[in-house]
Amino acid sequence: MRYLVLSDIHANLTAFHAVLEDANARALQPDEMWCLGDIVGYGPDPNECIELLLKTPHLCLAGNHDWAILGKLDVDTFNDSAMAAILWTREQLKPEYLRFLDEKSGRSEQTNVLLVHGSPRHEIWEYVSDSDIAADNFKLMSQPICLVGHTHIPMIYVEDPRTRAVRAVHPEHDVPLTLKRTHRYIINPGSVGQPRDGDPRAAYGIFDTDTAQWTEYRVPYDVRETQNRMRSAGLPPKLALRLEFGR
Ligand code: ZN
Repeated sequence: MRYLVLSDIHANLTAFHAVLEDANARALQPDEMWCLGDIVGYGPDPNECIELLLKTPHLCLAGNHDWAILGKLDVDTFNDSAMAAILWTREQLKPEYLRFLDEKSGRSEQTNVLLVHGSPRHEIWEYVSDSDIAADNFKLMSQPICLVGHTHIPMIYVEDPRTRAVRAVHPEHDVPLTLKRTHRYIINPGSVGQPRDGDPRAAYGIFDTDTAQWTEYRVPYDVRETQNRMRSAGLPPKLALRLEFGR
């Protein structure tokens, strides 16, 4: 099976479209989409992003922004602009899409693969943002592979089977990495709708379970188009501006 793995779409329809078109243009032909949460929050197109997701065979998790919109997390834990976007999204979302988000969990266990939004330890909350945090989380995994989102930064953590030492590897774009059967991995595809690694292009990964290969891709999209819709919607200007820097 081949999976299109993406996370943190954050209601950016232009970026989401660009990812699906790119996968199509490259003839990657995924069997299913795995979305690791935070489909909404920050961006101007919450309903449209859920609509597009529903048109594709998918598995979808909930993230911290999804939970905040549902009132499952306190909005006070977010910064001012994120909070404003959460409150705006709450007003915009169609009731059936609020129900759709409400049915999602932050975790899913597939054959040999654990999917979470944050981390195995705290599926909604925790950022796997360095090797030490990854090492702690490997201890809690029974699967050889865990896919995470939440940090908005593409990254691969590899655990050595003998020493249990963990190393962080920045994935090379367009170059398949063959996952060794002896090692364990925590992999983050990066963010579709709000990258934070200094590269404004939308990010996604393809995970092929037959060849045990992970490939990271980046796709340029019309950032200005999304920014214009954010400004018309009255979303915080700071959130629109950061998209062009990928920060
Ligand atoms: Zn996010």
